[in-house]
Amino acid sequence: MTKIRLHINDLTPLSWFALLLLWSGGFAQAGEAAVDPGDSGTDVIEDVTDDPDSRSSEVSAEVEEMVDPVVHESSVPLADAVSTAGSKAKSLELLGARVRPGTSKRLSWSATELFEGVPVSTPVLVLNGAEPGPTLCLTAAVHGDELNGIEMVRRVMHDLAPKEVSGAIIGIPIVNVQGFRRGSRYLPDRRDLNRYFPGNPNGSAAARIAHSFFVNVIAHCDALIDLHTGSNSRANLPQIRADLRDPDVVTLTQGFGSMVILHSTPSVGTLRHAATRAGIPTVTLEAGGPSELELNEVRHGVRGIETLVNTLGMIDKKRFWSDPEPVYYRSSWVRADNGGILLSDVSLGSTVRKGDLLGTINDPMSNARSELRSPYTGRIIGLARNQVVMPGFAAFHVGIQTADTPTEDAIDDSVLSKKQSETRDYIDDMSEEE
Ligand SMILES: [Zn+2]
Repeated sequence: MTKIRLHINDLTPLSWFALLLLWSGGFAQAGEAAVDPGDSGTDVIEDVTDDPDSRSSEVSAEVEEMVDPVVHESSVPLADAVSTAGSKAKSLELLGARVRPGTSKRLSWSATELFEGVPVSTPVLVLNGAEPGPTLCLTAAVHGDELNGIEMVRRVMHDLAPKEVSGAIIGIPIVNVQGFRRGSRYLPDRRDLNRYFPGNPNGSAAARIAHSFFVNVIAHCDALIDLHTGSNSRANLPQIRADLRDPDVVTLTQGFGSMVILHSTPSVGTLRHAATRAGIPTVTLEAGGPSELELNEVRHGVRGIETLVNTLGMIDKKRFWSDPEPVYYRSSWVRADNGGILLSDVSLGSTVRKGDLLGTINDPMSNARSELRSPYTGRIIGLARNQVVMPGFAAFHVGIQTADTPTEDAIDDSVLSKKQSETRDYIDDMSEEE
């Protein structure tokens, strides 16, 4: 296990100040596992310095060089990896421990230390099945304020008994433990951990944490589900986000049962991007919004994951969940044109037609009212909770249904046009994505 220290000499005066503030805040909350509901996770402060260690958390990983991940040990595609039954189940060795077939163990991963040198560790739950099969990984709270995934991992891991499983399941309920303790999406240095994968052992704190996690945990996975929620007071209809140009990723998406699937190319630096690039097919499961535990969303996610475990042949429980949901190859955000109080007229999952009223924005001073109407026919797959918004705020995410399954070229085209729009509103895009 690689342990990484944050050297005190590496800190600039500003970082010292920030760390001191964070440390004193953390100290005041010591022993308190709950998340402060008042913190919406938007602890981005204005970037007033050129010091790269003090940049806003919305800085992309592209400012930092990443090391190429260790090539995944097993090159067996997911579909083939499943059909390894017949050989013998093996012990799983990770994080300095050995987990024998038919047993489960709670391990711990620690990549960094608190200011005072105390290691920050987070549990890694390992369930090694009695029969051979693929290793499926579940990661949650890469953004520390996204709680639904934490509960999904707990439920999935405790619902299954090692004796009934073929293959292994590795669950990491809280990847960004420092953000979780502060009720924040970000790391203490205000960086977004999900922009720094696969990391760099000599880079910023975020890059080091990402690298340690990638090498010590992710490298053991054959497939990965990264659990997220909407960001900044936005909620998502339970959905799988996947790059549908990758055949192994498509295989993975087909196993979830009744779950909306959204084609989306992952941003550079996301765990989904880095893991897929390293040969580990990965999807993001989005459900609900941050800073809340939403049991309907949790149940939906758990059911999807358990259906996948069943589809992959890792359990034989006939928990199959059919009723396929649509696949959206295109989606678009409808943005507020005026500032004010946004009130929705639609809810998650609503079907909308072009021209339908999505919500209104009321100016609290002048009482002027403006309407937000849908430019598309489709379905609401994400929306902002009622709140005060400024012009340009992404308010409604519409999944746009296409008549037929597009050809691969058509997907590439839609990706191209998405790329162009991404360049246009780059910063905003960073805060709305996983
Ligand atoms: Zn997230």
